[in-house]
Amino acid sequence: MRMIKDTSPKALYIHIPFCVKRCNYCDFNSTVSASNTIDRYLDAVEREFETLKDRYLFHTVYIGGGTPTVLNESQLERLLDSAIHYGMVSDNTREFTVEANPATVTQAKARLLKDHLVNRISIGVQSFQEKHLKMLGRIHTGDDAKDTFALLRKAGFHNINVDLIFGCPGQTLNDWEKDLEVAIGLYPEHVSTYALTYEDDTPLARDLQNEVISNLDESVELEMYKTAITYGTDNGYNHYEISNFAKSGYECVHNNFYWKNLSYAGVGAGAFSFINGVRTAHEKNVLSYIDGILQNNDTTVFRERLPDAQSAAETVVMSLRLRKGVSNADFYERFGCKIDDRFRDQIGNLSREGLVSYEDEHLRLTEKGLFVADTVMAEFL
Ligand code: SF4
Repeated sequence: MRMIKDTSPKALYIHIPFCVKRCNYCDFNSTVSASNTIDRYLDAVEREFETLKDRYLFHTVYIGGGTPTVLNESQLERLLDSAIHYGMVSDNTREFTVEANPATVTQAKARLLKDHLVNRISIGVQSFQEKHLKMLGRIHTGDDAKDTFALLRKAGFHNINVDLIFGCPGQTLNDWEKDLEVAIGLYPEHVSTYALTYEDDTPLARDLQNEVISNLDESVELEMYKTAITYGTDNGYNHYEISNFAKSGYECVHNNFYWKNLSYAGVGAGAFSFINGVRTAHEKNVLSYIDGILQNNDTTVFRERLPDAQSAAETVVMSLRLRKGVSNADFYERFGCKIDDRFRDQIGNLSREGLVSYEDEHLRLTEKGLFVADTVMAEFL
């Protein structure tokens, strides 16, 4: 089996690793830093833009974090100006997303985003209920989240995602339904729902270990997930990916590059890139990253050329996240064989158990498979 296509990245991720405060469940690469560190970080990011200039034409750009909207107005303006100046984004960029957290967006910041070609906002709401927000260690209230949504709408954003978390300790199905109701009542174009995970070395994981809190029963979490699907689809959202719901035409284009295991470039501390079959990652530590980039050192701390077999397996696993599944034609074009030729045994067993099926030349999870997706995917790795 051989990889045929050698594609340049069409998606760019820019990481802003700063937050007002660390949330209790967070294991993302983010820190609380002084404003002058952020300024130096932006110097480094600009340097990376300079390197990428004229090399690739990005169809989608995603600024995530951390909390990009923790940048003050002049820092945010500088970041957006330089993204445009170095050609990372232009009028032709199909999707330009910025992550925003409630209580960090001002009217002036919303206007800056709007005036700098940003056409999609993803708001980290997580919950509208104070008890859960407090447990998660979020800095905002439920009302802050609603206000931020309203402010961004007023600024002219017509493509807004709302991120929600379910499965919080002590959360009931009724609590979750209320969160879904409030979220959908805002009429966002896109909703993401993720189950809470207890990542190692987070305050929440320690509380769990010390029995200060207890996690929800798996069956309750499953019920919550099913409820999200029912709410989403009943309200006109297309459940197009395991955790994602969109109004027609508002499916996230950027994430689609990840789900299809296609090339992407990453800028910033800890950012991954996947270009021409090689996966690399930048230094994670913010200060080491800044110093390395500004001193023209190689800040790559991880590099692996994916063996063809691994790349094929990862493509199937990632694409199975999409409700549409993995396209046989795309797989053939990329790997020179059909999915079945490569994974005959796995697909045979999973089909017999009713967990995957073929539809329109796509291998996809059945509804039964959707609820045990992790187990199904493990079969391919
Ligand atoms: S806002 Fe997001 S990135 Fe920042 S600490 Fe909280 S979960 Fe982590």
